[in-house]
Amino acid sequence: MTDKKTCDSCSDASCSSKTQLPGEKLDQFIERQQLMRRLCEIKHKIMVLSGKGGVGKSTVAVNLAVTLAREGKTVGLLDVDIHGPSIPRLLNLEDSRVEGTGEALLPVPFDGNLKVMSIGFLLQGRDAAVIWRGPMKYGVIKQFLKDVEWGKLDYLIVDSPPGTGDEPLSVCQLIQDPAGAVIVTTPQELALLDVRKSITFCRQLNVPVLGVIENMSGFVCPKCGELTNIFDSGGAERMAKEMNVPFLGRIPIDPALVLACDAGTPFAAFHAETETAKAFRRAIRPILDRERGADPARDSAETVVLETRREEDKNMTRIAIPVAQGRLSAHFGHCEEFALIDADLDAKIIRGKEMVAAPEHQPGLLPKWLAERGANVIIAGGMGMRAQSLFTEQNIAVVVGAPAEEPDAIAQKYVAGTLTTGTNICDH
Ligand code: ADP
Repeated sequence: MTDKKTCDSCSDASCSSKTQLPGEKLDQFIERQQLMRRLCEIKHKIMVLSGKGGVGKSTVAVNLAVTLAREGKTVGLLDVDIHGPSIPRLLNLEDSRVEGTGEALLPVPFDGNLKVMSIGFLLQGRDAAVIWRGPMKYGVIKQFLKDVEWGKLDYLIVDSPPGTGDEPLSVCQLIQDPAGAVIVTTPQELALLDVRKSITFCRQLNVPVLGVIENMSGFVCPKCGELTNIFDSGGAERMAKEMNVPFLGRIPIDPALVLACDAGTPFAAFHAETETAKAFRRAIRPILDRERGADPARDSAETVVLETRREEDKNMTRIAIPVAQGRLSAHFGHCEEFALIDADLDAKIIRGKEMVAAPEHQPGLLPKWLAERGANVIIAGGMGMRAQSLFTEQNIAVVVGAPAEEPDAIAQKYVAGTLTTGTNICDH
């Protein structure tokens, strides 16, 4: 038996699984306890919803799960999209067999910290769910949530059925205390209308909306990786503002994403340096920040650091270095992240460093973005003349032709006055 934890030995006296509810039959009570026992081992349950099918909900669910797993979190990916369970196809797991322990189903291990379970593993044929009546669907979803033995997880990403009907309703009701929902849409006005319904649906059920993702927003050229807006994009961001929910970013239409899905190689893991994978990393940032926000000890430690920093600010120079794979990125406009290194140039010492995920690529954005983050100097491999003058307008000094070394080494040499630079390799 894999299930060692029991509600009887749990010390949480306020948990509703301790007592039978008025009117609840004994078998219903036992079933509810089993469900709560499974789910209470999971710290954050996040539902991925969409107003309608085909907007990329499952693709986003897979890549959010993979991105969280790559951040070192233990993650479960649960596909309860009863009419179109596509996770087995997206991860090339269609031939996987689910192991059981008698009373529990074991999720399929995938890519390090990630485990996967899909209702698709259990359906006899692709059309099996179509013939089920409403109560049967509810029963299947409940049994499925109750019987999967995840063990301890940081995150469970639940790929829910689309729309705002009975099936997503069952999922929201059965998942106790969800951390919230991520809602996926496409930029088209019709899809946005459906998202408004999804947000209202979450509000009615008291499920916090963690944010909206605009998928298939712009096109990534398979040759050069450049992002082009072919349709109007930005509608989801405006709508999120109007409805007062966070906007988690745009995911472009990326042919490589489809190929990766077909090959069962989750995009965010195998193409980590692309704009699309970066968009997924940006999307999870506010979700991880919420988790961090729940840690007051860490927050107060950071306040002390900030206050000390304010005192030292007067002599501080903030050096920005574009980084990809741990080293200075030659193409600063397409880097993964920036090292922001604080140095006292008079004392020739480095006082601190933070790594910040790069913003979505938009021409002309970076100088302002880095100025807002207090940068005074940017050290780059290559940079075009236009970009150099935009940095200068923001009072950021530009150093080009720096070697592709680790940012700490570059900053130390810069501070010591020993950084040697070569040719500006940028040709545009
Ligand atoms: P849903 O779960 O909303 O029904 P899926 O995730 O199954 O949608 O995606 C539908 C189709 O669109 C799939 O073939 C998937 O590969 C493709 N797709 C989803 N997002 C993107 C994207 N950003 N770029 C390219 N293709 C995508």
